[in-house]
Amino acid sequence: MKKSFLIFIVFTTSNSFSQTIINRDPEIAQMVSEVSADSLKSYINTLVAFGTRSTLSTQTDKTKGIGAARNWVLKKFNEFSKKSNGRITAIIDTVTLPADGKRIDKPVLLGNVMATLKGSDPNDNRIFIISGHLDSRRTDVMDRTGDAPGANDDGSGTAAVIECARIMSQRSFPATVIFVAVSGEEQGLFGSTFMADKAKKENWNIEGVFNNDIIGSNNSNGTNIIDNTKVRVFSQGIPADATEKEIARISALGLENDSKSRELARYVKEIGERYVDNLDVVMVYRTDRFLRGGDHLPYLKNGFTSVRITEMNENFNHQHQDVRVENGIQYGDLPQFVDYEYLRKNTALNLANLSNLAKAPSVPEAVKIEVKNLSNSTSLSWLAPKTGKVKGYYILIRETTSPVWQKKIFTSENEITFPYSKDNYFFAVQSVNEAGNESLPVIPGLARE
Ligand SMILES: [Zn+2]
Repeated sequence: MKKSFLIFIVFTTSNSFSQTIINRDPEIAQMVSEVSADSLKSYINTLVAFGTRSTLSTQTDKTKGIGAARNWVLKKFNEFSKKSNGRITAIIDTVTLPADGKRIDKPVLLGNVMATLKGSDPNDNRIFIISGHLDSRRTDVMDRTGDAPGANDDGSGTAAVIECARIMSQRSFPATVIFVAVSGEEQGLFGSTFMADKAKKENWNIEGVFNNDIIGSNNSNGTNIIDNTKVRVFSQGIPADATEKEIARISALGLENDSKSRELARYVKEIGERYVDNLDVVMVYRTDRFLRGGDHLPYLKNGFTSVRITEMNENFNHQHQDVRVENGIQYGDLPQFVDYEYLRKNTALNLANLSNLAKAPSVPEAVKIEVKNLSNSTSLSWLAPKTGKVKGYYILIRETTSPVWQKKIFTSENEITFPYSKDNYFFAVQSVNEAGNESLPVIPGLARE
């Protein structure tokens, strides 16, 4: 079996080296096995049957348009709620958008369908979010009536959100997980902007947002690559909200590739590949695809950690295209172009990450690197996390040019000194519990800061 475990070097407290194996947490492995290609397919077929899900489409028709679509997603969430003893609760969070002279020609009521799986630890206020966009579009983004199936863009992301909610709502987690199908993406990221702005204003403690947009097709037009074993995760390097002073510090310490969003991307790769067979997570060191954007951007602007998950090979004959046949080529975002086995793996990637994060203790506090003396060894120290029971901590080490962490050292202490020069390596610290669920890594601050 591929990647069922990882071998890392481990320090014991007596500073002797030994090897350990990081096993899959059986509870997460079980949940991953429950992700169903058939469920995902049925969600997408239902979404496509609404004809169009344009944000500007009808909200009064019972079977067509964005209104019927969001009511259906709410109904699904409410079904899960009944089976969860009320652990998960759902609403449609609405806002009226004024005409903007661009992609909104007259005022429109926008609704994000949002299910909240409240954390079981009352002291744990961490929130993790999985987001997809419910709205679809035609070639003409202002066309509110013609068919816009949006099976992949973003029926795939919406289906992943629903499937994760179905499975995760049957368990409880110390931290809170929010499952959201936003609208208004195609008109200008309005639903995610509404949600991210509200989160900022209300001080939500969001530690990670997974924006899933176009995650279900395995092939690219033009290059004719067909491959369902790779998925991309895009992450921003220099935080969108960084001040000049913060940018100067990033530059001085060489931390251009260690933003919180980039650490989340590394985490997504490690945990995804730990739990999902035959899936390689390809990190792209960019906020999004070249000159394009998505629903993670409003979170980044508000200072939250967020990544975009997208299929490896995009087919532009099936994106933002009216359904038609031209020169023998079928255009349009139709359900037959979705690879449901691929979508199953990409959904499982999200589920494994959300679950591992929501089960993990919170991040270690006051992580510091000693800088008093010039030295070829490195001393790190930290305090216990605010919430969760720790077994110990992982120290992560990588060379400055390595995209991924190369060593993962376990210790049950709150400090460590090892023979790795801070001139040549990057370090981070994670909290880990008995089941092996680790927090996001924290890059140490300077002990004098
Ligand atoms: Zn999209």
